[in-house]
Amino acid sequence: MAIYITTECINCGACEPECPNTAIYEGGANWALGGNTYGPDDAAPSGATGYWSADYFYIVPDKCTECATFHDEPQCAAVCPVDCCLPDPNHVESREELEKKVEYLNQIDPSRLR
Ligand code: SF4
Repeated sequence: MAIYITTECINCGACEPECPNTAIYEGGANWALGGNTYGPDDAAPSGATGYWSADYFYIVPDKCTECATFHDEPQCAAVCPVDCCLPDPNHVESREELEKKVEYLNQIDPSRLR
């Protein structure tokens, strides 16, 4: 399951530098994966929809692995002062799927890592 940021977000930006996958973007910003850049009207490679925000930090489901293989818990949720980083019921994945996602992301976009 990916994590998503709710409209309770206060735009403090604490989460963004904590994400090992650079899956978090400021509201209104384009996001990138594998050398491609995506805007609000572009389809995500996975077909994910409804995650982009012009107003709040947002998490790209194609890049979020719930921090699997990096940390024991989602780092964005751990640092969020208003607890607005929550499991996304629209993008549910098993631990096995998340680990495969890490492998896939490592192949197509190793430069995303921080
Ligand atoms: Fe990034 Fe981890 Fe938060 Fe997903 S759960 S957005 S991988 S910090």
